[in-house]
Amino acid sequence: MKVLVQKFGGTSVASPEQRLVVTGHIERACRVGYQVVVVVSAMGRRGAPYATDTLLELLGDNEVEPRERDLLLACGEVISGVVLTGLLKSKDLPAVFLTGGQAGIITDAQFGDARILRVEPRRIQSYLDQGRVVVVAGFQGVTESGEVTTLGRGGSDTTAVALGVALGAEAVEIFTDVDGVKTADPHIVSDARTLSTITYNEVCQMAYEGAKVIHPRAVEIARQKNIPLRIKSTFNDGPGTLVVAWQPGVTGVHISRDRVITGITHMDGLTQLRVSLPSGEGAGEVFPLLAQNNISVDFINIFPGELVFTVKSEVARQARELIEGLGLKVTARPGCAKVATVGAGMRGVPGVMATIVTALEREGIKILQSADSYTSIWCLVDRKDMERAVQTLHREFKLNDGKTGEVKVYAVG
Ligand code: ADP
Ligand code: ASP
Ligand code: MG
Repeated sequence: MKVLVQKFGGTSVASPEQRLVVTGHIERACRVGYQVVVVVSAMGRRGAPYATDTLLELLGDNEVEPRERDLLLACGEVISGVVLTGLLKSKDLPAVFLTGGQAGIITDAQFGDARILRVEPRRIQSYLDQGRVVVVAGFQGVTESGEVTTLGRGGSDTTAVALGVALGAEAVEIFTDVDGVKTADPHIVSDARTLSTITYNEVCQMAYEGAKVIHPRAVEIARQKNIPLRIKSTFNDGPGTLVVAWQPGVTGVHISRDRVITGITHMDGLTQLRVSLPSGEGAGEVFPLLAQNNISVDFINIFPGELVFTVKSEVARQARELIEGLGLKVTARPGCAKVATVGAGMRGVPGVMATIVTALEREGIKILQSADSYTSIWCLVDRKDMERAVQTLHREFKLNDGKTGEVKVYAVG
């Protein structure tokens, strides 16, 4: 029998009514003959009683060991999974619940951001073979020595894909509160378009740049094994977005399978740091020091007398103190956001940067810093300008227009 993995995010399991909708999706998959594995996130978002952020807030300012923090966080998915299992049983669907560890998810010991080392799916498979729906707590695993770990925020997607790969699933369905992967966050751009198909490459770029609809590590695992991912709404019957290795329907010899511009993403909570280097030296000390302290840096510009880069705001103070400890002067600009124009097919296409700069300037949005790669152009802006910058670029690249935004270049012959 074919296995299907269905993952339901926090907002899909937040209320009893929503959980009923969820059971409907599971029932339908069972009815068409799949062996179904269900992965759940903690119920609701910040403020909801058992949401991950709420559990975190319980600690207040009290410090606990990272392993203890992970034990607390892992509870959210356990609560959610057991509640859903009870509901499935009440509907005469034979179901069983497993924690990440019980499901065979073995990770390294990097608490709070653990990587899956391997999956031992025997226990899940035997329950499936008994005709049971297996509900698994997302976002968690266990180390070789039995410590509970969590996989990083948004990590339930990764659980779902890792299980899908280990079980040889036909597909992994990621159910969420929006219609699929869109050309921008629909909470910022109301006419953002749902992409009917997207390549692993494109969605990975979007995810790394802040489109949190899917976790980037989940996409990487899916890409390695070429397992189809469908991202869709829990609350309507729309087809959602199919993530695959290539754009179906594009025939001929492919030059590239990716669009010039796929979408616009955003990420706030950044602080820009400027470090003066009066003697022209010091870069060789600053970056290793930050790395040793596990602080990652972005938007790095190195000039003879100055270093400019960004860090996450929650570590800005620590970064500043570390650098000042080297006897260097640091100026911080908090309240920054990164707006990225993402397009895995933009390499070698002229005019993308020109369009961005002209559009933002016309709107009076100041670019504090910029950087680019083959697949993205990033602009650092003030947090207060972030939404407007996303809306402006979305409009400028006509991403709401199916004809312009969809596959544009790409096939010869
Ligand atoms: P879940 O709890 O289902 O895992 P998440 O909150 O992690 O849901 O991800 C869904 C959210 O991702 C949406 O509510 C939306 O605000 C946000 N999002 C950001 N960028 C995009 C995008 N490009 N397309 C779709 N959703 C996006
Ligand atoms: N509940 C976890 C989080 O809020 C994991 C997830 O939702 O995927 O990050
Ligand atoms: Mg998520």
